[in-house]
Amino acid sequence: MMSTVGSQPANRFSDPEFQNWLKVARSLLVLRDGLGEFTKQEIDSFHQILKQNPPPCGKCIEGKKNAPKKPKAQPCTDCQPWIEGITKVHCNKGGIYWNNSSTANWATNAWELAKLYMGKGQTPGNKGPHKTDCAGLLTLISQCKLFKSKLNTSLKPIQNVSYASIWT
Ligand SMILES: [Zn+2]
Repeated sequence: MMSTVGSQPANRFSDPEFQNWLKVARSLLVLRDGLGEFTKQEIDSFHQILKQNPPPCGKCIEGKKNAPKKPKAQPCTDCQPWIEGITKVHCNKGGIYWNNSSTANWATNAWELAKLYMGKGQTPGNKGPHKTDCAGLLTLISQCKLFKSKLNTSLKPIQNVSYASIWT
């Protein structure tokens, strides 16, 4: 790929292929901004509903360090409505990445709930849609039932994509 792009920075900007990459990058940022605003509104509304419950204790989602976390079989009465609410609108109840989120922040940061509908490996630094990439936002939309009524079509995972065809 480097052979098609000029070696000098000034040459790169006149290279049509590099200009296309810049357009793609800019398009992803525009997409992220649009999805971010949309998803934030829905998650904030969901958070307002769950916040009517007492804040979670922070101890009922458990797991050893570097091991998957999951809710206790019998969560406390403060955590139970949060866990039930989160699970109820999750499309993959058995595949919730509880490690993605800090229970202690559920009551104060709505985005901690959003991260539970994203792919594995969300970090504490992901504190809002501005810190989430397009893939994370699209996964949130596809895995959280709150968005189903907002879409004209269903989001299904793309299968059999040949990345080689994208890069050539
Ligand atoms: Zn608890």
